[in-house]
Amino acid sequence: MKHVNLLILDDKEENIISLSALLSTLEDVRIIGSTNPTEALKICWQDDIAIALVDVHMPEIDGFEFISLLKSNSQTSHITAIMVTADSKDDKDLLKGLKSGAVDYLYKPLDPEITLAKITSIARQTQIQEEIKEKNVALEELQKQLLLAKKETEEARKVKESFLANVSHEIRTPINGIVGILHVLRKTPLNHQQREWINRLDSASNSLLLIIDDILDISKIDSGMMKIEYETFSIREKLLDIAKLFKIKASSKNIAFETIIDPQLPAYIKSSAIRVQQIIDNFTSNALKFTETGKITLAVSVIQQMDYRCTIRFTVTDTGIGIKPEALEKIFLAFEQGDDSITKKHGGTGLGLAIVKRLADLLHGKIGVESTYGVGSAFSFQATFEKVDNFKQQEMMDEGATPSPQKFENVRILIAEDNELNSFMLQHILKGWGCEVDVVKNGRVALEYLEQQDYQLIMMDTHMPIMSGFEAIQAIKTNLNPRKAATPIITISASVLPHEQAAAYEAGADSVIGKPFDPNDLYQKIATLISKRP
Ligand code: ADP
Repeated sequence: MKHVNLLILDDKEENIISLSALLSTLEDVRIIGSTNPTEALKICWQDDIAIALVDVHMPEIDGFEFISLLKSNSQTSHITAIMVTADSKDDKDLLKGLKSGAVDYLYKPLDPEITLAKITSIARQTQIQEEIKEKNVALEELQKQLLLAKKETEEARKVKESFLANVSHEIRTPINGIVGILHVLRKTPLNHQQREWINRLDSASNSLLLIIDDILDISKIDSGMMKIEYETFSIREKLLDIAKLFKIKASSKNIAFETIIDPQLPAYIKSSAIRVQQIIDNFTSNALKFTETGKITLAVSVIQQMDYRCTIRFTVTDTGIGIKPEALEKIFLAFEQGDDSITKKHGGTGLGLAIVKRLADLLHGKIGVESTYGVGSAFSFQATFEKVDNFKQQEMMDEGATPSPQKFENVRILIAEDNELNSFMLQHILKGWGCEVDVVKNGRVALEYLEQQDYQLIMMDTHMPIMSGFEAIQAIKTNLNPRKAATPIITISASVLPHEQAAAYEAGADSVIGKPFDPNDLYQKIATLISKRP
């Protein structure tokens, strides 16, 4: 416990000696005596005095004045002052002492027991107050540190997000060019080997995109920006689609692929089809990646049926390399892989299972894994889903039967895009749909072209030198000529982060298309925007 400094001010030395002797039995109390009020004031300033026992009658300054002086100075006003007097307990004197700031009186001759009890209690109170003060200071400091840490985390999150948006933009832009050109190339006469090369290029570009998507997914989930969109869908059809794709991939590796679906499985469930598929796809891709011979099984079993809900478990079992027990715990952590030699042989970022674990949490489900090193693994996802009866499926267009797009007539489009590969590819696709196309490399030239010429549509990249897409869109939408201002604009954004897309709409864009885009999607968007024009 901290010491309490106690001052005795009395013009008679002998009084100080006797009071000091009485109080010397108190632990943690350090006594300082003074016969001179001026010196006593100095002591109060310098020695961190907590309690002052002040004699009322002194020749220069009396006790009332001394206490008033203590109370009027911010450096000494906290001192607990007690008057010591030989006078009778006259109410007037009592009041005068209390008004000057004293909290209590001690009467001479001092009763040792009462004096000790009073001082002990005041000293204890002072110590408690001191502790509270110290704790408050520590708390305030902690609060400051917490606020700082929160601010730093928020800033780090923003930096990470903008870094990811930039990296994804930088990587998506050239991939967009590659995918687009592959699309154009596929429509030209090709021999078998050339077609094979194009397929390889396509698959390499898609792998790159998957990595970018994984990085964006994990950062979106970790920053709480991943929204789970619930819809009613046929879980059986979804599983059959997944199985169809993986069966082809497995057979190209000479591995058997089996699907076992519980007949109790409800026809329709309400969940996020895309996220459920992402989890199963991930397990199955890993199974394929880490299995050289044998079989992969996708088994779906109903664990519990309730009135409106049911618990389903999806398990992907393989006869692959298996996982060592010590690696099992860390494979669900981001950027962790079972074994370094695995990275060298099979590649991968170690993000897949970390995303799966987080998605399962978002879907209120759980992940399980059992594995025997050298024998094989079984990964499972189990969750409870809402069952949907009598769901009328929307008329779905059979993708294979999509008619080749009708040509546009009298449609002139301005492309503002600084990346040559992309503008070349876009130009090709648009010309293939019968459009006339002009290409410029920045927003400022786009404005100049628009002054000279009417366009039915403008395609605007968001990141361009000299004048960015957003600035150009704002200038177009505020053009004094209403016809020019009404020109529909589609922004081409490599960023798939929602806030970037929202910024495009805020700037005045009529529609947004990501990079790389599905040409059918772009066709639909152009057709819709053009049809709205008078
Ligand atoms: P990666 O992209 O590296 O495959 P994942 O998060 O999907 O990342 O997997 C992490 C690690 O878990 C893998 O590197 C591998 O060591 C191990 N793993 C995952 N699935 C299997 C499997 N079916 N068989 C063996 N090991 C697996």
